[in-house]
Amino acid sequence: MYLKSLEISGFKSFAGKASLSFTAPITSIVGPNGSGKSNVAEAFRYVLGEQSMKSMRGRRTEDLIWNGSRSTPKSNRASVKLRFDNTPHETEAGVRRLFDIDFDEVIIERIIHRDASSEYQLNGSPVRLKDIIELLAAAHIGASGHHIISQGEADRVLSVNTRERRGMIEDALGLKIYQYKKEESERKLEKTRENLEKAEGLRREIKPHLMFLSKQVQKIEKAQELANELAEKLIEYFAREHVHIERERTALSTEKKPLEDRMHTVEKELTHARKELERLETKDTTSDDLLKAEEELRTVRKEKDTITEETGCIEGEIVATKRQLEREAERRAKGDLRTVPWSAVSELHASVLKDIESLGSSEDVGAFKRIVATFKEKLTALIERFRGDDTPHAEEKELESTLKKLMAQKETLLSNRNSIEAREASLSDTYKKVQKTIEDDKDSGREMERTVFALSGVQQDIRLSLQTLSAREDALKAETEEWKRDIGEASALLGTRIAYEAQVATFRNEPVEDRHEQHERKRLIERMKIRLEESGLGGSDDLMKEYKEVGDRDAFLEREIADLYASADSLEGLIKELNTTLSLEFERGVEKINTEFQTFFSLMFGGGEAELALVKEKVKKEIMYDEDGEPILSPETDNEDTEPMLGVEIKVALPRKKIRGLEMLSGGERALTSIALIFAMSQVNPPPFVILDETDAALDEANSKRYGDMIENLAKRTQLILITHNRETMSRAGVLYGVTMDAHAASQLLSVSFTEAIAVAK
Ligand code: ATP
Repeated sequence: MYLKSLEISGFKSFAGKASLSFTAPITSIVGPNGSGKSNVAEAFRYVLGEQSMKSMRGRRTEDLIWNGSRSTPKSNRASVKLRFDNTPHETEAGVRRLFDIDFDEVIIERIIHRDASSEYQLNGSPVRLKDIIELLAAAHIGASGHHIISQGEADRVLSVNTRERRGMIEDALGLKIYQYKKEESERKLEKTRENLEKAEGLRREIKPHLMFLSKQVQKIEKAQELANELAEKLIEYFAREHVHIERERTALSTEKKPLEDRMHTVEKELTHARKELERLETKDTTSDDLLKAEEELRTVRKEKDTITEETGCIEGEIVATKRQLEREAERRAKGDLRTVPWSAVSELHASVLKDIESLGSSEDVGAFKRIVATFKEKLTALIERFRGDDTPHAEEKELESTLKKLMAQKETLLSNRNSIEAREASLSDTYKKVQKTIEDDKDSGREMERTVFALSGVQQDIRLSLQTLSAREDALKAETEEWKRDIGEASALLGTRIAYEAQVATFRNEPVEDRHEQHERKRLIERMKIRLEESGLGGSDDLMKEYKEVGDRDAFLEREIADLYASADSLEGLIKELNTTLSLEFERGVEKINTEFQTFFSLMFGGGEAELALVKEKVKKEIMYDEDGEPILSPETDNEDTEPMLGVEIKVALPRKKIRGLEMLSGGERALTSIALIFAMSQVNPPPFVILDETDAALDEANSKRYGDMIENLAKRTQLILITHNRETMSRAGVLYGVTMDAHAASQLLSVSFTEAIAVAK
């Protein structure tokens, strides 16, 4: 037993709270006409998600809410709560829960308000109608209400058209879940197709714009390609230029230093050489020195000649004197030729005279005697002196003295000559030296001239080299500035990464190439720049962004279209599959029902034949939506035929009667036929509960009994709630509820005994 209780509050005639517990397989609800019994059955329909107001005997939502009476105000909400036991239990398919949710008790509640808002709750949590319907369908409690037979509706299964009947049978067979799935898939398919159309429409719409953008982007991409190429070229150019500048700078400083040093040295040497040359050139004193030396030499030589001459004379005199001396000596040797020099005699004379005169008038004999003695001495001396012995006489002596003098003179002359000769030699030496110096100076001068010339040449060469270096320095400076300027321009044109990458590229250490190549590169770069400028890359960001957006949108739509096609395909596949399953299961189910139907029918009529037959029909499906915008499942109309479908026809043949066809049956026969079919349907796939609202109304006593037996039989597999006035039916119930209408025109529920029930029913 799955059904535990029903709680009604504010629903239709139930103003207050009313509660029914279903503790027995069969529960009967009894009560006088108009007390609200059918409202209980409708409470079931309502809580199970019934959308048709008609089947709940109302026109508007409000009609379902307690409308108030003279004494009791109307309710603002109606709520019905149905409680199920959902503990796992043994089934043919194993241990299962009734509802596929992990709760031992499942409470479904539906609440509506006067403002027509409606809500569903599952175990206290708000859920959608769709969730409730799916949950119920899986538990074989369909919304078509095949298990809730309203008052006077027992033969509905006979009066509906073949398609509606098919729906009821599907529901009874538990195939509704496939039907729902199929319908849902069809809805999804339709939605998918709509979306597909929309997406394709959108794609078509953006296509021309995308094409336009694509062309623009192609141009931009080309320009971008050019820009990239240019960037590559620039990077290489800048890197090479950088390397070139650095190399040149290093080369210049390496080359310049020795040149400057050399220049310095050469300048020093040149200054020195020039000074030296000047000195040599201004050294004219050298010829003076030579003249002076010449003059001195000449004088000395003259002196020497004079001395030589004089010496010659002296030597002549010496020879003559010597010869005279020899002659004198010879004469002296002869002795008579001794001569007294006059001077000696005169000197004697003068001296004697002088002494005599010194006597004057003196008579002094002494004096006289002294004079005579002196005279004697003097005379003796004279005689002695010229006595003519070996001793050379005066002439000889004079000659000797002369000779001596002459010899001395000669000596002097000779010595003078020696010194003069020494001087001459020295002067000659000096002269030669001066002469040599002059020669040397001349040589040195010439040498120095050559040196100065050579050095000037070297200096000129160095100066030229330095000038070349300076020109190279200027060029390098200009190149460096140009390089920097170019980098600035390139960065502005293509972004600062250029400078960075060029810096990185300098480490590549490219082999040195001819400078001409770099100039060629520069020319190419300039041409590329012009081309890039002409291509108009500016403003491309916005366009690229737009292209990306539109492209993304297109790609998204393309993907979406592909996805939609894929899901349409899979939905079509699923629908096909569901159709196959449905028709297969349906045919099998109908077969089973037919067996049961035949059994119940012959039981009811004591024979005869009854069967369900499948007929082909064409239908068009139409989706309707409830007040919540939720699709209403399964309504079908036949405005236009679009799709073939099997409907179900009922064929009956009463025993002993020639009646074939439902139209010919009496009210009771119709009731019996429909009960037989309902029971057959319930038997094949028993729902958790079945509600029968006065299904037994038209039965006579004998049939009531049969009905009672069938009920008991049915109650073995399905919980039954029977609204009845039938005593027989009441007698089969385990629990009886009496519904009465109180003084406030509100329904009241109370548990009653069989006897009370009989009384209440009356
Ligand atoms: P019967 O035995 O004749 O079939 P019943 O017991 O099935 O009668 P119901 O049809 O369930 O009676 O109840 C109908 C009663 O409910 C009516 O009297 C009707 O006025 C009352 N009713 C229906 N809707 C409302 C409502 N919204 N507010 C108050 N009363 C309502």
